[in-house]
Amino acid sequence: MEKYVACCGIDCATCDARKATIANDQELRVKTAESWSIQFSAEIMPDMINCTGCREEGVKFSHCSECEIRKCARSKGFNTCGDCSELEQCATIGNILQFVPDALTNLRSIN
Ligand code: SF4
Ligand code: SF4
Repeated sequence: MEKYVACCGIDCATCDARKATIANDQELRVKTAESWSIQFSAEIMPDMINCTGCREEGVKFSHCSECEIRKCARSKGFNTCGDCSELEQCATIGNILQFVPDALTNLRSIN
């Protein structure tokens, strides 16, 4: 699992965008686009559902390619935010840790 933990701690291995990309599963792209459009109140089309994972080479889902957490961790040379001494106080990652408690567990588990 370790290499699929995103910079923010989300588990990319269980992400439907990654699953659809790896399996080239168009039906899952369509379902994921519908569900994420509702969840994120945005117009997300099936052809946007392409991502190999935050820390893997290859295509990224649009939000993840622009993600400030990912940019920050990479600019500091960290594998993930779990390497950062500011993790517990960081406002940039704060929302993720609040709404996805497993993210912090994942970051701790690989350190
Ligand atoms: S980086 Fe890609 S695989 Fe990971 S959570 Fe974001 S969309 Fe899903
Ligand atoms: S400052 Fe925040 S976003 Fe940047 S690497 Fe540290 S924990 Fe991650």
